[in-house]
Amino acid sequence: MKQGKCPKCGSTNVYVAADLPLKSGPFGSNSIPVSLTAMAALDNYVCADCGLVESYIADEYMLKKIAGKWKPVNTAADDD
Ligand SMILES: [Zn+2]
Repeated sequence: MKQGKCPKCGSTNVYVAADLPLKSGPFGSNSIPVSLTAMAALDNYVCADCGLVESYIADEYMLKKIAGKWKPVNTAADDD
């Protein structure tokens, strides 16, 4: 989706507002909790044909924080 193609319908009619002021939304609604005290704002990619929304965290500091605090989905012992 970041490359401008919708993974759902194949459209290239994809839009992003990464530099939107106040992009974290009213009361942080367009953000996710990272820890007790930290929220990460989301960049949303929207397909104007089918309406699919994909969200990304752009803040590298928050990505590092998540990698340090959250549980990894893939662990060495798991096979799926
Ligand atoms: Zn689409």
